[in-house]
Amino acid sequence: MSSDCAPRGPDEHPLLPRAIHLAAHAVAASACGLPYPPLSLSASGCPLTREASVGRGPARNPLETEVIVALAGAEAEAIATGATVPCCADVAQWITDGDGAEAEPFIEWLRLKTARTVEHPLRQRLIAAIAQALVSRGALGEPEVRAIALDETGRYMRGQ
Ligand SMILES: [Zn+2]
Repeated sequence: MSSDCAPRGPDEHPLLPRAIHLAAHAVAASACGLPYPPLSLSASGCPLTREASVGRGPARNPLETEVIVALAGAEAEAIATGATVPCCADVAQWITDGDGAEAEPFIEWLRLKTARTVEHPLRQRLIAAIAQALVSRGALGEPEVRAIALDETGRYMRGQ
C-alpha cells in the first residue's frame, strides 16, 4: 500500500476519495482521543462525530478536537486527489455566533494542525488502509476500523 501523498491516478475506484475522506475523520478522531466512528459509503452527507473529549494528541480541548476531526476529511481528500476540497462542515459557525471571518485565523491555525496530523506517514497508511477496506466492504463498524488500524500500525512499526 502506498504511503506517499502524491495525487492518485484517474483509474482508481471512484469512491476512493470519499473513502479517504471518511477514513481521515476516523484517524483524526483517534489521534484526538476519540473512538473510531463507524463508517459507511452509503450514508448521505458526512457523518461527523459530535462527541467531544478532553484534548489529546493535536487538540488541546474539545472544540479543537471537533474542528480538527471535521477538517481532516477534506484535508486528506485534497492530499489524495490533488484537488481543492471544501470542508464538509461550517466550522466557523461552531466558533462564532456572528461574523465567521473573525474565526478564520483560528481555523487556519487548526487547518495547519490538521494537515500535520493527516500528513504523518503512519496516519497516511491508516487512512489508505481504512479507505481501501471501506471501498471493498461499503461500511465498517468501529471494531473493524479499530482492527484495521491496529493491524496497519503493527506493520508500520515493524517497517513493513
Ligand atoms: Zn466530512
